[in-house]
Amino acid sequence: MKPIYKQTYDVAVIGGGVSGCAAAVAAAGAGATTIVVEQSGYLGGTLTNCGVGPMMTFHAGERQVVQGFMGMLVERLKSSGNSPGHVPDTKQYTPTITPFNAEALKLLLDQALEEAGAQVLLHTFLGGAEVGGDRIKGALVCNKDGLNTISAKIFVDATGDGDLAFWAGAPMDKGRPEDGECQPMSLMMKYCNVDTGVLKKYILEHPQEFPHLEGKEELISQDIPMDVEGFQKEMAEAKALGLMSIARENILMFATDRQGEYILNTTRIIGHDPADAESLSDAERVGRRQCAELDRLVRSRIPGFENAILEFTGPSVGARSSRQLRGIQTLAASDILDEKRDNAIAYSGYPIDIHNPKGEGTMTAFLQKKGGWYGIPFHIMTCLEFANLLVTGRCASATFEAQAAMRVTPTAGAMGQAAGIGAALAASGEVDVRKLDPNAVRVLLKAQGAYIE
Ligand SMILES: Cc1cc2nc3c(=O)[nH]c(=O)nc-3n(C[C@H](O)[C@H](O)[C@H](O)COP(=O)(O)OP(=O)(O)OC[C@H]3O[C@@H](n4cnc5c(N)ncnc54)[C@H](O)[C@@H]3O)c2cc1C
Repeated sequence: MKPIYKQTYDVAVIGGGVSGCAAAVAAAGAGATTIVVEQSGYLGGTLTNCGVGPMMTFHAGERQVVQGFMGMLVERLKSSGNSPGHVPDTKQYTPTITPFNAEALKLLLDQALEEAGAQVLLHTFLGGAEVGGDRIKGALVCNKDGLNTISAKIFVDATGDGDLAFWAGAPMDKGRPEDGECQPMSLMMKYCNVDTGVLKKYILEHPQEFPHLEGKEELISQDIPMDVEGFQKEMAEAKALGLMSIARENILMFATDRQGEYILNTTRIIGHDPADAESLSDAERVGRRQCAELDRLVRSRIPGFENAILEFTGPSVGARSSRQLRGIQTLAASDILDEKRDNAIAYSGYPIDIHNPKGEGTMTAFLQKKGGWYGIPFHIMTCLEFANLLVTGRCASATFEAQAAMRVTPTAGAMGQAAGIGAALAASGEVDVRKLDPNAVRVLLKAQGAYIE
């Protein structure tokens, strides 16, 4: 048997998205022997595996409320020429967006984990949990070594879907309370060779077609990666001709850090369950069909896309929401809108942003105060049932509405850093995570450069 399956780690992190990477680096940085298990061949989660971008947002008004591990990543992306850093959001949906190069991110995450001394096991899928009383004893994994168990004192579930918590038997919720429907999944599309000059000229000459950009002409004219939401007429006409099945009324696109490269976040796979194998599998097929329809539309109708090349879809379909832990604390919409920040271990200024689970339309609830921000409590990552489980990232305990705000990558990463510190503290003192004092976590977060009020 290989050493990885023989030893007991202080901390095992399942899932290598931004929340898992942040957790592993923070835990290893706090002295814990740490392993990360990831099903893909690279780290980064949706940012590398689903073509998601830009990261948004690190800011609340002028204030940068996400720093620490995520801030370090952006600095490294920037200094290596793989991100312009935080730039104004042309739509002003959020104060800033942070475009980046996903290939560079893969490499930077490899380096960050290596520097921290955390072990990474890629191509390894979690398929179950060994439980004894109120403790998880092992994570059952499958990879080229066959079926094995990873043992640890503390487990961090950073799978996005709460797979470990679910297999261990922790209480979970899924979707809206009224019908269990999750936000729609999307298969992203990445284009290169888009003529930004032509696209911008069209937008500036047809402001009535871009209500989200009204009054932002000065920002659009700047030489910064822009995001665009519009082309409603083109979508409606394609639908009327039976050429478009996407349940979305317009096209949403984001420029990346590269000249002429755009991410289209427009497909909408409704009525599917990201935590059901058959449904997830079908979501990929539906997403690809929608991408093919959209590809025909954008290359024939959208100015600037005449010679655009579809680089790739996905690679995998992305899930905005699925299972949520039912935690000791649960983040609610009112906590967000009332800007609660007591003893927080992470912060965000991102609004509640719900893509309609049933069809067209997106509901946004902005914070009442422009530039306001709210806190993420530590104990939305713990549950009453387990002494050694932390659930971080988009599957931590939150209502359907609140999850639609805290799910974005800067916040998920900031939360992950706190989970890693909490896990290291619990492992070193043989402490029950349910009894961890958020203030002890906050002290170490501050020492690691995170933004803490
Ligand atoms: C379509 C879409 C568009 C979005 N747009 C934006 C945006 O523009 N900006 C933004 O900031 N955020 C955006 N988000 C939200 C954001 O991408 C995610 O919510 C965020 O990445 C969550 O991070 P995470 O680390 O919690 O989860 P993830 O990034 O999902 O990472 C989870 C990791 O766990 C791994 N994993 C899962 N299950 C297993 C298992 N059983 N065994 C082993 N490994 C496993 C996965 O492979 C993955 O690497 C978007 C999300 C989607 C789906």
